[in-house]
Amino acid sequence: MNYEAVIGLEVHVQLNTKTKTFCSCSTEFGDRPNTHTCPVCLGLPGALPVLNREALVKGILAGLALNCEVAEYSVFARKNYFYPDLPKAYQISQYEFPLNKNGYVIIKDDNGRDKKIGITRAHLEEDAGKLIHDEDPKGPSYIDLNRCGTPLLEIVSEPDIRTPGEAYRYLIAIKEIMQYIGVSECNMEKGELRVDVNISVRKMGSRDFGVKHEIKNMNSFANVKRALEYEIKRQIKVLRAGGKLKQETRLFDQSKNATVPMRTKEEAHDYRYFPDPDLVPVVLKKEEIEEIRAKLPELPEEKRKRFVQQYGLTEYDSENLCSSKKLADYFEEAVAGYKNPKKIANWILSEMMKVIKEKQIPIEDFKVKPVMLRELFEIIDSGEITGKIAKEVFAEMADTGKKAGEIIKARGLKQVADEDVLEKVIDEVISENPKVVEEIRGGKKKAFGYLVGQVMKKTKGQANPGIVNQILSKKLELQ
Ligand code: ADP
Ligand code: ZN
Ligand code: MG
Repeated sequence: MNYEAVIGLEVHVQLNTKTKTFCSCSTEFGDRPNTHTCPVCLGLPGALPVLNREALVKGILAGLALNCEVAEYSVFARKNYFYPDLPKAYQISQYEFPLNKNGYVIIKDDNGRDKKIGITRAHLEEDAGKLIHDEDPKGPSYIDLNRCGTPLLEIVSEPDIRTPGEAYRYLIAIKEIMQYIGVSECNMEKGELRVDVNISVRKMGSRDFGVKHEIKNMNSFANVKRALEYEIKRQIKVLRAGGKLKQETRLFDQSKNATVPMRTKEEAHDYRYFPDPDLVPVVLKKEEIEEIRAKLPELPEEKRKRFVQQYGLTEYDSENLCSSKKLADYFEEAVAGYKNPKKIANWILSEMMKVIKEKQIPIEDFKVKPVMLRELFEIIDSGEITGKIAKEVFAEMADTGKKAGEIIKARGLKQVADEDVLEKVIDEVISENPKVVEEIRGGKKKAFGYLVGQVMKKTKGQANPGIVNQILSKKLELQ
């Protein structure tokens, strides 16, 4: 009997507002602990929350990008629980009336076909503070409330995901969309995107769902995939052995590459949700929602398709370029008015990404601006320099920010196309390599490349390869 997995993900995305959700404290990351606090986010008695308009607008923008219906009426609710990182002893969230619902994103399934993953809801809520535990288990714990009250969008998927690969691609899709619309940087090291995983298994063909297990607070997509792979195997094993699964929350232990139990259903929280009496319901007019919709930029999926059509790129290249909006923008600026966009796409994805990875810098700090890259290609096309020299020129451009033309001039890199000059060098190479020449004449055509290489070496890569080929063939009477 075969089993399949049923997976639903809850993703928390930190919205990049300047100030917190219900007070005007800064959301700046990495400042001294407890310096961005006030009576509201400290939960002092009598302090009253006021909704941050930017958090609301960004929440709506995200909902629209996720193809959700934006509610004209939504309500903030108190989610009650006690924890040291939550001074009010309740989190302001949304429950019965979320801001966004019934959306979807399109991902590729394991066979590369398009698949729709439903979004149940995407609601606004505030984050808790951060606990920092001493390495010594008997040592103290510290609390930093700077993050307390920072806006989050919780995106809850339908249980439509079937494999760890689909889960992984769903997360990439969510992250890309959030980055594209500019509501979050989704920097996982800063905890700006966190994932709760829900997973059950069932017999293939069954319509009922199995018992759900939750794996909490994952902050790496690779770990989500590993945790799912482990958990699917574990659950199937229990069922095959005739055992029963009970609903529980588990944690992923990276060092063991395994999930371990955290709490069972009986120990689960009862949050006693109720509408927050301190906040009025959010009432939106249709026109207000449409105004925000008009601000939606082109989304990753549309851009990928357009790049294939407009620039003749392969789906693979298009996907790679569109994986970051900044990279996609860079490409479009570079190829504006240039006749062979594919050539520039290849260069960006190989040569340029290599340099950027080495330098470990974001694209906006890269010294070769898009126009400068186009200029380099126009110079290559004109025959002034070879592709090989272009790599050197490019490396120097990336180091210094100088233009290609400038570097070529200063270093005397112009390609040697003067036939007299080349003929002299070729004669030298022929007389220095009598054995190779004999081999070629004897039919070993492969050795021809060796001689071309020697000419290139003598000219420091500046010889025009086409002309070298021509002259050399003639001299060896191969024509
Ligand atoms: P809870 O009430 O425990 O929060 P929800 O019904 O709100 O559960 O679902 C939370 C998440 O779990 C959603 O992403 C949903 O798709 C997923 N989910 C629900 N039931 C299952 C199941 N049987 N197996 C896997 N995932 C599930
Ligand atoms: Zn505050
Ligand atoms: Mg739920």
